[in-house]
Amino acid sequence: MPYRIYVDGEWIAASGGEAIPVVNPATEEVVAEVPRSGAKDVARAVEAAAAALPAWAARPAAERAALCAAVAAALQERAEELADTIVNELGMPLPLTRLIQVGAPIRTFASMPEVAAEVGFEERLGGSVVYRDPIGVVGAITPWNYPLHQIAAKVAPALTAGCTVVLKPSEVTPLNAFVLADVMHEVGFPRGVFNLVSGTGPEAGEALAAHPLVDMISFTGSTRAGRRVAELAAAGVKRTALELGGKSPNVLLDDLDDAAFEDAVRKGVGACFLNSGQTCSALTRLLVPRERLLDAERIATDEARICTPGDPRDPGTRLGPLVSAVQRDRVREHLRAAAEDGATTLTGGPDAPDGLERGFYVRPTVLTDVAPQARIAQEEIFGPVLVILPYSGEDEAVRIANGTPYGLAAGVRAADPARAHRVARRLRAGQIRINDGAHNGLAPFGGFKQSGYGREYGRFGLEEFLTTTSVQL
Ligand code: NAD
Repeated sequence: MPYRIYVDGEWIAASGGEAIPVVNPATEEVVAEVPRSGAKDVARAVEAAAAALPAWAARPAAERAALCAAVAAALQERAEELADTIVNELGMPLPLTRLIQVGAPIRTFASMPEVAAEVGFEERLGGSVVYRDPIGVVGAITPWNYPLHQIAAKVAPALTAGCTVVLKPSEVTPLNAFVLADVMHEVGFPRGVFNLVSGTGPEAGEALAAHPLVDMISFTGSTRAGRRVAELAAAGVKRTALELGGKSPNVLLDDLDDAAFEDAVRKGVGACFLNSGQTCSALTRLLVPRERLLDAERIATDEARICTPGDPRDPGTRLGPLVSAVQRDRVREHLRAAAEDGATTLTGGPDAPDGLERGFYVRPTVLTDVAPQARIAQEEIFGPVLVILPYSGEDEAVRIANGTPYGLAAGVRAADPARAHRVARRLRAGQIRINDGAHNGLAPFGGFKQSGYGREYGRFGLEEFLTTTSVQL
């Protein structure tokens, strides 16, 4: 199928006629080509979104939310096609793709009626009425690692809030966004309310962030690109929400018995390696009491060796390839540099994994003898790489945990839940898991420090797209 951009309710050709290849990371084959939109295409999409805004913003929130729920139902019907598409462009193992990459965005769209009902769109305040109004035209720029999930986190609440949207998905994994646009069309969103332009960050992304008719940019991606987007948006005094990178700690406290400690290390390795380590909130620094360092090293090594990388379509595979050759090479370079800096590689390392001639695979790696300030313990690697850091006493654990430029997520494991909670409250991170607390798709998600600002999901996520008008009576 020839991919076209979706603007003002129609599928149209992008102006330049150039294309971006989409590569299957397990086979290295080009699976599709999508339009490489430029500033002209972005402008058409933004103008359509601006024209559609007044009528869409005037619709009752419950109606807007109901259309999002219809999107969830239509995505569900195409769940298998979506899973297949995302495995092709991202390389995450198929069962996990079904569960997370397809399941989570469907749940986000489906949650909109419940979430909209929680927001008070109008309230009396003394002699005034305060309305909570949509911020306006939203430019949504999203990454490749949980592609449809990140899109849903912006598009569903923005539309429910009464905003209109221009989406610029990652050029690395854009295909799922085309399925979504098809679904949006099918369920009957009015023309111009949702628009899709595929393209690169420096071209389509920057044009969107700089366009004068865009009122807000909601960005998820690297800290580097987020900084650039915020600079461009600042020139037009636009609101921005930035969901950026992380280097999150997983703190195991010293009251765990042997069995609980082993379980915590094994689960910590598994969580770090989810999606081949390409998870912004991955707990990539395992903090253990110094007297248990040797045990942690032994257990983590054993667990990492179980996670052999392989074909994402093979039912036994837990770890697929990395998304691209660029990403694979970046991770291997980090591993080489860490070894040169004195880190000990317990398992894994920069060499290609055995028996995989094709595909962007990296060996799952566990490193120790790493100083908390070393580059490998400070920078986001975005590959299957775990660093073990010993600490002496709770205060040092907290200091190391908080001692990076990031603050996206954290984990705390302890036998005493009250103690775990006390330590968790000292951590500067947007979401913290205590003793493997279950994921909550309606709880706010976002960062401290250079992990960004703004929150996604549930009521907090919807409120990001609202502003207020007060009318004095
Ligand atoms: P990236 O920053 O390279 O790209 C993200 C998006 O921004 C893409 O659509 C890209 O085209 C666009 N972009 C790139 N440069 C741009 C520019 N100059 N102007 C405008 N847009 C630009 O990130 P990525 O490699 O796709 O994703 C990985 C990063 O995303 C990691 O750092 C990860 O931690 C982060 N991430 C954060 C969250 C979160 O919620 N905090 C979630 C997922 C991923």
